[in-house]
Amino acid sequence: MPHTTPIILALAGNPNSGKTTAFNFYTGSRQHVANYPGITVERKEGFLRAHDRDVRLIDLPGTYALTAYTEDELVARRGLTPGGPDAPDCVINVLNAGALERNLYLSVQILELGLPLVLALNMHDEAEKQGMIINCGRLAELLGIPVVPTVARSGIGLDKALAAAVQVSLDRRAAKSSGLGGAKPLDISYGPDLDPVIQEFTALIEGNEALCARYPARWIAIKYLENDSEIRDLVAAADSALDVRLAAGLEQVTRHLKSTTGSYPEAIIADYRYGFISSLLRQGVVTRQDELRNRVARSDQLDKVLTHRFFGPLILLGVLYSMYKITFGLGEIPMGWVEAFFGWLSESVSGLLAEGLLKSLLVSGMIDGVGSVMGFVPLILTMFLLISVLEDSGYMARVAYMMDRVLRAFGLHGYSVMPFIISGGIAGGCAVPGVLATRTLRSPREKLATLLTLPFMTCGAKLPVFLLLAAAFFPGNETSVMLIISLVAWGMALMIAKLLRSTIIRGESTPFVMELPPYRLPTLFGVLIHTWERTWQYIKKAGTVILAISIVIWASMTFPELPEEMAAKDDSSAARLEYSFAGRLGKSLELVTAPAGFDWRVNIALLGGIGAKEVIVSTLGTAYSLSEEDIAAVEDSDDTTSLQSRLRGDPNWNPVNAAALMAFVLLYAPCFVTLAVMRQETGSWKWSAFSLIFNTLLAFAVAVAVYQVGMLVI
Ligand code: GDP
Ligand code: MG
Repeated sequence: MPHTTPIILALAGNPNSGKTTAFNFYTGSRQHVANYPGITVERKEGFLRAHDRDVRLIDLPGTYALTAYTEDELVARRGLTPGGPDAPDCVINVLNAGALERNLYLSVQILELGLPLVLALNMHDEAEKQGMIINCGRLAELLGIPVVPTVARSGIGLDKALAAAVQVSLDRRAAKSSGLGGAKPLDISYGPDLDPVIQEFTALIEGNEALCARYPARWIAIKYLENDSEIRDLVAAADSALDVRLAAGLEQVTRHLKSTTGSYPEAIIADYRYGFISSLLRQGVVTRQDELRNRVARSDQLDKVLTHRFFGPLILLGVLYSMYKITFGLGEIPMGWVEAFFGWLSESVSGLLAEGLLKSLLVSGMIDGVGSVMGFVPLILTMFLLISVLEDSGYMARVAYMMDRVLRAFGLHGYSVMPFIISGGIAGGCAVPGVLATRTLRSPREKLATLLTLPFMTCGAKLPVFLLLAAAFFPGNETSVMLIISLVAWGMALMIAKLLRSTIIRGESTPFVMELPPYRLPTLFGVLIHTWERTWQYIKKAGTVILAISIVIWASMTFPELPEEMAAKDDSSAARLEYSFAGRLGKSLELVTAPAGFDWRVNIALLGGIGAKEVIVSTLGTAYSLSEEDIAAVEDSDDTTSLQSRLRGDPNWNPVNAAALMAFVLLYAPCFVTLAVMRQETGSWKWSAFSLIFNTLLAFAVAVAVYQVGMLVI
C-alpha cells in the first residue's frame, strides 16, 4: 500500500551548503546515526510527518560530484541509487546559492540519474549580500524542477522546499502506479566525440536488465566512460562479455581523444557539464547586480579618459606604437635565435655534404624555406599575445570605436587599424601576422578588404630595397623618401579598399556595435592558450605550402645548369643565374617591363621577391656579379655600399628608374608566406590569386606611370 509506506527523501549537496542545518530543522531531535557495513562515514536518518505523510529523511555526506574516489562520495552515491534499497522518492539538493555554478555540478548528475529533484538555493541571504540576483523561477523553468530559495540558518523557505519534495514524491508514485514510468533522466550532449560512443554503450547496456534496474543505462555508459571504478566492477560482475566490449570502446575513444584534443573522456565530460551549467546560468538566471554596476561605473570613468575626444586618439597612438614596438622588439630576440639556429643548420649541413645539387636543394631550398617560416613564429606569438590581452581587457573595442568613423569612409571597420599597423603601417612591420590579425574583424567583407589591402604597407623586408635605392639615388633625402613611401602605402591601401568595397566586395558595412563591454583583467591562462592555438595553426598550414614553394623557387634559379663549355668561360653565380629558368624568364619579361624601366636583372630579383621580399636585394647583388663577400654583406643588408655604387655607375640606372622600382616593390604581389596565410584566413586560394595578380598589375601601372612621367620631366 503506497500510502502507508513512508516517503523517502534524501538531502544531498556540496559540503557546507547547509544540509545538516536543514536536516536538524526538519527532524529536530528525532534522528539517529546509521552506518553502512564496512564504511566509517556516517549517515544520519530522521523521521517526520509532513502533509499527513510519514517521511524518512536521509542526510547524505557532502559531495561535489558523483565520482567514486572517496568514502563520502561512495556513501552519497549509494543513497542516490535509483534501484538501490534506500532509493529516495525525491532528493532535496541543498545548494550554496553564492556558488551556483560549482554547486549545480552535482545537481546535473542527480538529474542524469533520473531521480526527482527539488533545489533548495540555500544561503540566499549571503548571495543577496554579495549583490547577486537569482531568478529561481527562470532556473525552475529551464530545468523543469521546483527551485526554492532558502536560508537554512533561520529556517526560511525550508517548509516550502519540503512541501515541494513531498508533492513531487506523491506525483511520482501516482505516475508509477498508473504505469506512466518515472522521471526522465536529464540528457545533455557530451560533444561530437563522445555522444556516439555514449549512444552505442547505452544500447549495449540496455541489453542487461539487472544493470538497468539499478541505474539508467545512459548513466552507466557515461560513468563507464569516466572510468568509474565502481561502475566498471559492477558491469564486469554483471556481464563480462559486455565489459570486454565497453572496455575496448573506452580504450579506442580515449586514444582518439588523446591524439585529437590531448584530453581524456572524464575531463571532456566535466567540461560539457560545466558548459551546460554556464549556458543555463547565462539565460537570465543570475545577475550580479552590484558588481556589474560597479564595473560599469569604473569602466565609464576609464572611458572618460581612454575615449576622450583629444586624449583618446593620443593614447590610442601610444598603445598602437608600443604594441608595434613590443611585437617587433620583443619578437626579434627569439626570431634571432630561430634564424641563428637555421643558419647553423645550413652551415652544418653544408659542411657535411659534398658540393652539388643535393646540398644546394637541402640548404638553399629546404632549410632556408623552413627557416623563413619558423622565423616568423616568434613574431606571430608575440603579436597574438598582445592582441589577446587587448581584446580580453576590452580595450580593442575602444580602438575600433575611435577609428571606426575614419575607416568606415573607406569601407573598412574600426578593427582594421590593427592589422594595418602590424603589416607595416609604421614602416617595418610584416604582412604575415597582419593577415592573421584580421581575425578580430567579424564581418567577412571588411575582413576581406582589410586583408587584401594590408600588403601595400611597408613591411620590414621591403625596407632594405627602399634604403638601398634611396641611398644610391636620393642621397641626403632618405628620410623624406621613407616618409613619402609610408604615406603612399596608406593612401593606396585606403583607396584600393574603397575601390574593392564599391566593386567586387560591395555590400552593407556591418553596423558597429556601440556597446562597449566593461573593462576586465584578462586571465593569463586564457590568453596563453589562445595565443598558442593561433600560432600552431600558422605553423601547420602555412609551413607545408611554403616549403613546397621555396623548393620551386630554388629549382627555377638552379635549372637548367650551365653547360660545361659555357661554365669554362664564366662560372660566376651571375652567369649561372642568367642561364637558369628564372634568368630566361627575366629576360623574356624585359619586353613587358621595359616601359617601367626594369631590365632582366631587376626582373629576376622581383620574381624572387614573390618568394620573399628579403630576396630582392641579395638577388640584385648576384645578378650584378658582386664578389662573394660583397653578396654576403648585402644579404646581411647592413652594408650595401658596393651594390649602391654598382647601381649608380650603371648607365641604365637613374633616379626615375629607382623611383619606379620603389613604387613597384611597395605595391606588387605579396610574398608567398602572406599568400599562404591569406588562403588560410579566407579558406580558398581565390583571394590569394587575386592579390597576386591584381597587386602586380596595379604596381606595374604605377611603375610605368612614374617612369614615363619621370623620363619626360628629367
Ligand atoms: P553541511 O556541510 O551541508 O551539512 O552544512 P552545515 O549545515 O553544517 O552548514 C555549514 C555552515 O553554514 C554552518 O555554519 C551554518 O550555520 C551555515 N549556514 C547554513 N545555512 C545557512 C544560510 O542559509 N545562510 C547562512 N548565512 N549560513 C548558513
Ligand atoms: Mg553536514
